[in-house]
Amino acid sequence: MLLYTKHPISIYNSLSKKKELFKPINKGSIGMYVCGPTVYSNVHLGNLRTFMSFDMIFRYFKHLGFKVRYVRNITDAGHLENDEDEGEDRIAKKARLERLEPMEVVQKYTVDFHNTLNTFNFLPPDIEPTATGHIIEQIEVIKVILDKGLAYEVNGSVYFDVLKYNESNNYGILSGRRIEDLIHNTRALNGQSDKRSPQDFALWKKAEKNHIMRWPSPWSSGFPGWHIECTVMSIKYLGKQFDIHGGGIDLKFPHHECEIAQGKAWNDCFPVNYWMHANMLTLDGQKMAKSTGNNILPGEILSGNTEKLSKGFSPSVVRFFMMQAHYRSILDFSNDALLASEKGYLKLIDALKTLKNLVPSSSKSKFNVLNWKQRCYDAMSDDFNTPVLIAELFGAVKYINQIKDGNNTIGVEELEILKKTLNNFIFDILGLENEKDKSSKSKLADTVKILINIRNQARKEKNFKLSDQIRNQLIDIGIQLKDSKDGTNFFVD
Ligand SMILES: [Zn+2]
Repeated sequence: MLLYTKHPISIYNSLSKKKELFKPINKGSIGMYVCGPTVYSNVHLGNLRTFMSFDMIFRYFKHLGFKVRYVRNITDAGHLENDEDEGEDRIAKKARLERLEPMEVVQKYTVDFHNTLNTFNFLPPDIEPTATGHIIEQIEVIKVILDKGLAYEVNGSVYFDVLKYNESNNYGILSGRRIEDLIHNTRALNGQSDKRSPQDFALWKKAEKNHIMRWPSPWSSGFPGWHIECTVMSIKYLGKQFDIHGGGIDLKFPHHECEIAQGKAWNDCFPVNYWMHANMLTLDGQKMAKSTGNNILPGEILSGNTEKLSKGFSPSVVRFFMMQAHYRSILDFSNDALLASEKGYLKLIDALKTLKNLVPSSSKSKFNVLNWKQRCYDAMSDDFNTPVLIAELFGAVKYINQIKDGNNTIGVEELEILKKTLNNFIFDILGLENEKDKSSKSKLADTVKILINIRNQARKEKNFKLSDQIRNQLIDIGIQLKDSKDGTNFFVD
């Protein structure tokens, strides 16, 4: 019997706003699309959490025996600075600031994205399409929407006509926003916009004179709107109706609302059966934002080279920390929370080591391994409830330690089931790795932090001979210290 028939899954569908029994369109197969990164900067920790949640979901589907086609795009054009189709293209702006070709920016941050995901033990998606690789398809779909009278062209740009669409559809079906409120609340565009109504959104934008990322189209030399790429690429690879579309909760409106409208306008059917949204990550109780400095990069967590952390943490500890919260709950990132996760993770890995040396016996156990295994699956099949799963894993850890101490027993068959199940859930599904030994990188960071503390102490005591000696000798081996008002950081040449 296939595992997925044994363990039916319920998924919280953002569209119906309730948990639903998951029924894929084609039995045994799943089509899943997740909005990927806009590659104009290093991947943000909040985004990493979103992608990690979907990696865990992808892993669980595969474990259950589903054939999954997982598509996660790369946005390399069309994503403007704000949601009102205004401002510079994010990639073009970065290219201007860094004096690079836009495609150099795209390459640099795509490589960074892949490296980061590899470090955190992600499984690659099956298809990773780019917006610039699908300009022709996007133009073709815009033509269809125009022909249906659900879009209009003004001065070389094409906009989706939300009011027209809303006459026979419900714009707001996903986000719950009412069209009247949208009209009322969308800020006026100083008469600069070609839009008939402020809530309309761009399908194609005519490029200004100095806009370098541009392609020919029937309307103008320009570029596609941000929302149309996901509609076109998801449907191209998964069909006009597919199972799951995911993304961060911040994409629910307008991005995903617009995707539903575009898909419906194009194919006369709703494109997605289950909409899934992963929640935010906060840092020390506050929203993460580059502008306020309340931000941390994944690499800084690993090295510990940040004032926000007392030390570096391994990728699996970070992953374990993320998995301790349900993907739909807000999760707060802090040094204390990571220290607690590290303790828990090491306890789990230690128990696996103990498990290897346990001797089975024939006397009756006080722990029902088969029931426990069922509860692990029940947790994951209940909308991917990883915190409940982890509580069950710790139930097994307690049992393992009882056997080790001679206070409980385990039979031969049960021991095999326990080993296999723990390995499946810890490594295959949660995606953790056995990294008990700290990486040399984080050891280096810890060592330099000790030296920085000694140097600070020396400076306080006006022992500048010692403080200079520490700084200069670090420079000799290629480590530079940089003092700022927030403290001292270091850079390795
Ligand atoms: Zn998207």
